Amino acid sequence: MKIKFLGTGSAQTSLSRYHSSFLISSSNHNLLVDCGDGISKAILAQGIDFNSIDSILISHFHADHYSGLPSLITQMKLLSRKNELTIFVHSSEKAFLEDFIFHSYLFKERMTFDLSIVSFDEEQEVNINENLYFTSKINTHLDKYKQFDKKKKLGFSSLSFLFKDEKNLVNYSGDVGSENDLYIFDQKVDWFITETTHIKSENIINLIDKLDTVKIILTHIGDDFEKPLNDFHQSLPVSLKSRIILAFDGLELNQSS
Ligand SMILES: [Zn+2]
Repeated sequence: MKIKFLGTGSAQTSLSRYHSSFLISSSNHNLLVDCGDGISKAILAQGIDFNSIDSILISHFHADHYSGLPSLITQMKLLSRKNELTIFVHSSEKAFLEDFIFHSYLFKERMTFDLSIVSFDEEQEVNINENLYFTSKINTHLDKYKQFDKKKKLGFSSLSFLFKDEKNLVNYSGDVGSENDLYIFDQKVDWFITETTHIKSENIINLIDKLDTVKIILTHIGDDFEKPLNDFHQSLPVSLKSRIILAFDGLELNQSS
């Protein structure tokens, strides 16, 4: 498995980082995880061909994680894409996503390619192909908004993920509500990709002891947090420092990382 970070910023728009997103490549498949505002430009900035993206997975419906989708589909259409595109979305948001695409005047009949929206449920193992799988669990990131949804229209499905291929196991925290959400899968993994905006850096270190995590990759880094996070990383003992990677746009993880 190879992972390339296309954006490593927070919800705040920044000139130094695009919003959080990464591309997982395994067994001839490229899965884009999250597609917030500016994703098309982030993909161009990394020299990636829009049409090499086979599928897209959305962690939750905050603008920094999904709002770039219509623009990205438009780029694919403008390039006369031929290969099918699959968008994986939690079942509670499937109807909204279909509407969102339709309301962006992107009609299936006018596409040069098949666009399929595939829904999944929590804890369901989803086969992306014969070698690449993911499982999701709902975390508490969106719980604080439940009081505002008087008409009970929203799904509140902010997801954490486990990705698996024949060689690697990867945990992606998504955006979380608290430290407890980091232990939602409670498994030793090769790479633990975690956000840094809604959690204390000190708490992230506990992952190494509690889960015997091999490497932790810190992402979702706001401009204001840039310096404190760097200072924190510098202050770590050498043994820990080498196991904690501060992500940047363009960072690539592979078997030897
Ligand atoms: Zn976010």
